[in-house]
Amino acid sequence: MALAPPPILARRRLDVEGTVQGVGFRPFVHGLAVRHGVHGHVLNTGRGVTIEAEGEPAAIARFAAELETDAPVLARVGKVTATELAPRGDVRFEIRASRPGAGAPAIPADAPTCEDCLRELFDPADRRHGHPFISCTNCGPRLTMVVRAPYDRANTTMARFPLCAACRAEYEDPADRRFHAESTCCPDCGPRLSLPLTEAVELLLDGAVVAVKGLGGFHLACLAADEDAVARLRSRKRRDAKPFAVMTNDPGALVVLDAMQTGLLTGPERPILLARRRAGAPVARAVAPGDALLGVLLPYTPLHHLLLRAVGAPLVMTSANRSDEPIVVDDDQARRRLAGIADAILGHDRAIHRRCEDSVVRREHVVRRSRGYAPRPMRLPVAAARPLLAVGAELKSTFCVATGHDAFVSPHLGDLRSFEARSAFHADRALYTAMLRVRPEVIAHDLHPDYAATAWAREQDAELVPVQHHHAHAAACLAEHGRDDQALALVFDGTGLGTDGTLWGGELLRCDLFGFERVAHLEAVPLPGGEAAVRQPWRTAAAYLEQAGRPVPFPRWPAVRQSLGVNAPRSSGMGRLFDAVAALLGVREEISYEGQAAIELERLAGDVAAAPYPCRIVGGVVRGADLVAAAHDDLEAGRPRAQVAAAFHEGVAAVSVAAVAAVHRGEPVVLSGGTFQNVRLLSAVERGLASLGCVTLAHRTIPPNDGGISFGQAAIAARRIAACA
Ligand code: ZN
Ligand code: ZN
Ligand code: FE
Repeated sequence: MALAPPPILARRRLDVEGTVQGVGFRPFVHGLAVRHGVHGHVLNTGRGVTIEAEGEPAAIARFAAELETDAPVLARVGKVTATELAPRGDVRFEIRASRPGAGAPAIPADAPTCEDCLRELFDPADRRHGHPFISCTNCGPRLTMVVRAPYDRANTTMARFPLCAACRAEYEDPADRRFHAESTCCPDCGPRLSLPLTEAVELLLDGAVVAVKGLGGFHLACLAADEDAVARLRSRKRRDAKPFAVMTNDPGALVVLDAMQTGLLTGPERPILLARRRAGAPVARAVAPGDALLGVLLPYTPLHHLLLRAVGAPLVMTSANRSDEPIVVDDDQARRRLAGIADAILGHDRAIHRRCEDSVVRREHVVRRSRGYAPRPMRLPVAAARPLLAVGAELKSTFCVATGHDAFVSPHLGDLRSFEARSAFHADRALYTAMLRVRPEVIAHDLHPDYAATAWAREQDAELVPVQHHHAHAAACLAEHGRDDQALALVFDGTGLGTDGTLWGGELLRCDLFGFERVAHLEAVPLPGGEAAVRQPWRTAAAYLEQAGRPVPFPRWPAVRQSLGVNAPRSSGMGRLFDAVAALLGVREEISYEGQAAIELERLAGDVAAAPYPCRIVGGVVRGADLVAAAHDDLEAGRPRAQVAAAFHEGVAAVSVAAVAAVHRGEPVVLSGGTFQNVRLLSAVERGLASLGCVTLAHRTIPPNDGGISFGQAAIAARRIAACA
């Protein structure tokens, strides 16, 4: 009988970078090794994990392949570097102690309760049955509970909850789902609710407003179908129009969903999805007054699941704050600031260290990239040769820390004119630089000297890269698509400072990541009263009507007009043109939140078909007043308002496409800026450009609005320092 030859062995070291700590990666690697008969070890290092795998070459190849294809849900396997080593005759596979080193792996994003935890949550026989803080390596709070890097329990707000014996045994068992799950706990050792769940449920069923502590802040909750409860919440919150999000286990009953939208809703980010409201959806009118779109989201914490199941009906879940203030994060603050808004507070003693609001998406793009996304990095097309920080804009502020190809965009910070948003800007910046163990040597900032972030940047001891606002918008979109070649960019938004000191925002740029040229733009109009014109779109409408040579119907105009010479900055913002037409159509003379008039104008236009209004382009200047004149004349002639709104949308799209056609040399065309959140405009422009044969690049995961500015600034700064090297 012939003996089989001894197997030929190989040994390979795999250095894995990416989000591979705090996500159950080592137990996964352990299980994979056992399955493939591979020996060796795995350990956490300063950059990620290092694996040494020994076995038959074919087994190692399968092991290495599945490392990437079968990784745990929260893991993001980045670069894998393989090195062949001499076999050492290991006889098993083990998880070894961590080896700290230079660099730092990323902190994971907050993750929704996983299927396994959900099963346990509702299993009467499980020791965590009904435990509102159940979590494991696949789910639970992450970024929002991290006090400092690196991501270890001692550095989180769970540090004050020592593990009981049973939890510790799981935490130390490599074969357990809770091996090194930093957020794990049980009813014996975990945090406690400040109010019995049954009481909160009874209150909600009685129509009360209850503040509920979530992952990144408090929500205000009430029955979504209860007209009185929702109306009460609206008046107490002093928010008269902005839609509320609804949390439900059955979103298909409230909005119309296609496969892509279902994918967005159920994805690990668990965002609020804005989708078309189903006719007859069991939701109070006051949830989204007059709005065809409804924001829906699935429960994402165990507490949400327990509440929804006990209540048995959809709940309004809106950020707990008064209008324009940042979301409330701690229990004392909740009692103080929410007195008079919430009837009761369902808090607990696990602190939220980092404010992180819900992310908001539409089918077309991310509107607010926050909880669930942050701090997952985006890839820069040109690597940052030196660590850099981009401080973003002012409203919908975010910042971005970049090193190499990785760009870490912060969660939505809000309006930097508020004290709380500025505090979050400073605290989160410290966390991100500590996480990446970098000290930014380069700071990119907006040109606007009055932005808080610009002022801060200019006080720092670092090399400054000033970036024009609309160039940053265009670069964000280019970089999101991994491109650094030349493009044309239609950048439409409300306001941004131009290089000539006027306010831009209806721009056609020819640009790359390095620089730009202003090819064409909307004709500027004076904004009577400056900021006042932004809050009162009728003022801009009056300025446009004068430019169009039409009579101005607004009774307050003669008085306001006298102040034109005093405070009337010139603006070519497309957002302002939308405001003007909205005011003309009587949609809205004053707004209560940014972009409101434009959103309502889009809703008015709906799917109504209309031929575009004509609009001249003279020497690269787009005569927006032509569109206003046409709208005015049609209204005088008694044409239905929806048709006027539709013809205006089509007119903007047509003149945009014409402006591109006049200068197009085969480059891709970028569509960016907050105005492109208008999906009717976006699709009309995309259709027009497609008929020209242009490749268009629109936003997907980086918001078209100012939340994307920091990423664009980072892409430009990285490109510029690469050019200097
Ligand atoms: Zn879990
Ligand atoms: Zn325990
Ligand atoms: Fe902007």
